[in-house]
Amino acid sequence: MRKKAFLKAYLFLSVLLFCSLIPNISVFADEPVVVVIDPGHGGENLGAEYDGYTEKKMTMVVARAMKEELEKYDGVVVYLTHETDVDMSLKERAEFAKEKHADFLYSLHFNASVKHNLFGSEVWIPAYGDYYVKGYQFAEIQMQEFENIGLYSRGIKTKLNDKGTDYYGILRQCTELEVPSALIEHCHMDQDNDKPFYQQGEEQWKEFGRMDAEAVAKYFGLKSGEKDTDYSNYPKASVAWQEGAVEPDKTPPEISEIELLHVDKTSAKLKVHIKASDSNSYIQYYKYSFDGGITYSDLQKWPRPVWNESEPETTCEISAIYDREIDLRICVYNGFDGWTESNCITIEPISSPKAEESVKEEKKEYREITYTPVNDTDAETIYNKGALAGVIISIVLISIVILALLFAVIKMLLMLKPHSKTRKKQ
Ligand SMILES: [Zn+2]
Repeated sequence: MRKKAFLKAYLFLSVLLFCSLIPNISVFADEPVVVVIDPGHGGENLGAEYDGYTEKKMTMVVARAMKEELEKYDGVVVYLTHETDVDMSLKERAEFAKEKHADFLYSLHFNASVKHNLFGSEVWIPAYGDYYVKGYQFAEIQMQEFENIGLYSRGIKTKLNDKGTDYYGILRQCTELEVPSALIEHCHMDQDNDKPFYQQGEEQWKEFGRMDAEAVAKYFGLKSGEKDTDYSNYPKASVAWQEGAVEPDKTPPEISEIELLHVDKTSAKLKVHIKASDSNSYIQYYKYSFDGGITYSDLQKWPRPVWNESEPETTCEISAIYDREIDLRICVYNGFDGWTESNCITIEPISSPKAEESVKEEKKEYREITYTPVNDTDAETIYNKGALAGVIISIVLISIVILALLFAVIKMLLMLKPHSKTRKKQ
C-alpha cells in the first residue's frame, strides 16, 4: 500500500514538474521572426525613371543586399516577394507575405517628384491601430539611419484615399491581411540634393540595403554572432494607439512672414528673416522668388533640430539679382508638402559693378523654375509609366474585342430579319 501511494505521489510530482517546464520549453523553441522584403515595382512596371536610373533595378539591388545582411542575424527568416524581374500586383505581394506568416513586410522604393524639386527620405505607414503603431516604431528607427548618413527627412507619414483607407496599395492590402507593413522611399532619384546618395551605382544601393537590415534588426531586437551585434534591448518609441485613422495634415502652414534685415550693395546679398509655423506639422522647405512668386528658387532645407520639429523662425542670406527691382517673396512648405506664400517686399535695384561680379559667380544657386507650387507627393502614381501603359493597352484591346462582338451580333440580326418576315406572312 505504501509503495503504491509513493508511486502515485511520484507520478503526480513528475507530471507537475513537466507541466511547469512547458512554458520554458516554448521559450526555447521561439518561432523565428519572418521578414518579407518587397522590391518595389518589377517587370513592365518600371517605377520611377530618371537620367538613366530605373527604380525597379535599384530596389532589387537594395532588397537582395538587405536580405543577405539580415540573414547574418539569428532567429530570422527572410523572403523577397519576387527574386526575378517580374510583374506582381500589390495584392499578390501582400498575399505572399500572409502565406509566409510574415511579421512585417517592407516595401522598398526610390522616389521622384513631378517637378523634380523635392528631396529627402520618407517612410509611409498604415494609418490604423496596431499597424500604425508598429509602422511608426519601425519607421522611427529607419529614419534615424537615413539621417545618420546625411539624408534629409521628409518624415513618417500616413496618407488616405477617398474611401478613408490607406492610399498606398501595398499598405492597404497588408493591413487587410493583418500583416504589419511600411513603405520606404529611400531618396529622390531626380534631385541634386540626393544625388550623392545613389549616383555611385550598385555598391551604394547595397549600402541602403544593409542600412535597412540594421533598422529591421533593431526593431525586432535581433542578435548576430557573426556580426557580434546584440540589439535585444534596442529601445522603441512609445506610440499612442488611436481609434480610427491617424490623419495626415491637409492644411498649409498658418504663418509665413518675411522681414528684410539687410541689403548688402557690394555683394548683392539680402539678409532675410523668415517666420513660419504649422500647428499640425513641421516646416520642411522654403524657397524664394524675386518676381513676387512667378518663378522660384530650388527648395531649401528649413532648420529642424529633430526630424518632426522645426524652428519657428530662421534668418537666411540670399544672393540677389542686381540689375532690376526685386519683389521678394518666400514660400514655406510643411511636412506634407502643403505650402503658404509670405508677404512681398519690394527692393530697389542694387546696381554696382561689384554686385554684378559676385552675382554672376553665385547665379547657380537661383535657377528660375517657372511653376506655381503644387502638392506633389503622388510621384509614385505618376511615375508608374509602365503600369499606365499596360492599362491603356488593355483598354484599347478590350474596346476592339467589344466592337468586333457588336459587329458580329448586328450582322447576325440582319441575317435573321428576312426569315422572321417570311414566317409572319405564312
Ligand atoms: Zn516606387
